Amino acid sequence: MKYIIVTGGVMSGLGKGITIASIGRNLKNRGYKVTAIKIDPYINIDAGTMSPFQHGEVFVLKDGGEVDLDLGNYERFLDTELTGDHNLTTGKIYQAVINKERRGDYLGKTVQIIPHITNEIKNRIRKVSARSGADICLVEIGGTVGDIESMPFLEAVRQMHGEEAPENIVFIHVTLVVEDLQGEQKTKPSQHSVKDLRMLGLRPDVIVTRSHTPLKEEAKEKISLFCDVPPELVISAHDAPDIYEVPLELEKQGLTTRLMKRLQLESVVEDTDWKQMVQKMKSMKTGVNLAIVGKYTNLEDSYLSIFEAVKHGAIECGCKANIKMVEAEVLENDPAELEKLKQYDGILIPGGFGERGTEGKMLAIRCARENNIPFLGICMGMQLAVIEFARNVANLEGANSTEFDENNPYPVIDILPEQAGVDDLGGTMRLGDYEAVLKEGSVAEKIYGSNYIVERHRHRYEVNPEFVEKLESFGMVFSGKNKNRMEIAEIPDKRYFFSSQFHPEFRSRPGRPSPPFRALVAAMCEYKKTKEEK
Ligand code: GLN
Repeated sequence: MKYIIVTGGVMSGLGKGITIASIGRNLKNRGYKVTAIKIDPYINIDAGTMSPFQHGEVFVLKDGGEVDLDLGNYERFLDTELTGDHNLTTGKIYQAVINKERRGDYLGKTVQIIPHITNEIKNRIRKVSARSGADICLVEIGGTVGDIESMPFLEAVRQMHGEEAPENIVFIHVTLVVEDLQGEQKTKPSQHSVKDLRMLGLRPDVIVTRSHTPLKEEAKEKISLFCDVPPELVISAHDAPDIYEVPLELEKQGLTTRLMKRLQLESVVEDTDWKQMVQKMKSMKTGVNLAIVGKYTNLEDSYLSIFEAVKHGAIECGCKANIKMVEAEVLENDPAELEKLKQYDGILIPGGFGERGTEGKMLAIRCARENNIPFLGICMGMQLAVIEFARNVANLEGANSTEFDENNPYPVIDILPEQAGVDDLGGTMRLGDYEAVLKEGSVAEKIYGSNYIVERHRHRYEVNPEFVEKLESFGMVFSGKNKNRMEIAEIPDKRYFFSSQFHPEFRSRPGRPSPPFRALVAAMCEYKKTKEEK
């Protein structure tokens, strides 16, 4: 196994994940199987209970792991599927060590950070990478060098450096190059962060600098000299117009070849799919406008995978999709804002929890349905589409979800008996991959090109099977099912009215868009054309 260990300096939020995913993609393009492990030094066991306000979206993996959004970037860039084990947190490590201690596994010894915690970290890195059958494993240590929380992880990889053959482990440090008031690039913070690394016994082989503009020769030489890294291994990861262009920029600077040399890898393969995808993306011209009506609208990261999936669909359709975030609650109070929604070429309601904003989202759904505007509803978005349809089409006045109103007259959305019984937060959540069988001749079957699909889930509530017949008699079709669970609700006689209990965005990939998203963008383009012809 070849390990590429990546640390971060100066501050977090540098786009370290994208840089690492890009390095991985370039190695994959050379024919290697690449996997990734993300270390989050926080105490939480996983990201499942974390607020998207603080951390961006919770990404859901096939095994139901609820993880940091960086793993989503890894899946998209590396075109792979990861599991919950690929996300290590301090909480997971300590929990495992404490459980072993209680079981007596340490035979009465004093249990300590070194060696017990560090051994647990090293074992997990080695086990997870071996199990995934990869040639190369990227290990991202979240946070910034110098944080108290990340010390045990840095110590663990320091030990690995001594234990692995030199050609099997390489260290990359991603740091920030700031500009002073005159616009000059300053390298001092980077120098300091490398000094901090050195004090921990780590020495970077490569330094990748994040900056707004390309790293100037002078700054590069300074970093090289002060940080003891040859200038050709100081790589500029300056802002790119789109994150998918980052691999191409790193490739241009020869990073892949140099890493391969250092790791004694000699592939001659060169896959150009990614490059072609980027070229297609850059040539997109006309644009369609999509409104995403949600709750965390001031933080785009809380809908990251949805943004990406829309982009994948748009690249495929050769048509740029401009996204506008609309705060659901504003629609409840301002009829003028609701009226404005009609101008969009498409409306999307993402997943969400809690009642706030749900009435506004239903106003948006009604607007889409009544004006025949292409619509995609995801998870909570499907539940609200069903409630809106029940109330305004199927004459079930006061219909609701028991999540928002326990005693409503028509609980069209409810907790199924097998989901009931709340142990702890997330305890009863239906998480990860589940299959669905699609109805013959449905929109769902047409867009997926199959009658059997697997998609990722994260929810507790479901369409109440008791109301299915009634709703179907009014024209809503539950075209995807997993036994008595409704996975898809569509209105076939609309231009495109599609909603799913699962989250299709998590399996969408550049070059292989998720079918509901591709179909949404295609319908938006068609719709825009018909409007223009009028
Ligand atoms: N709150 C809803 C449920 O638990 C929807 C969840 C979601 O949209 N992810 O079923």
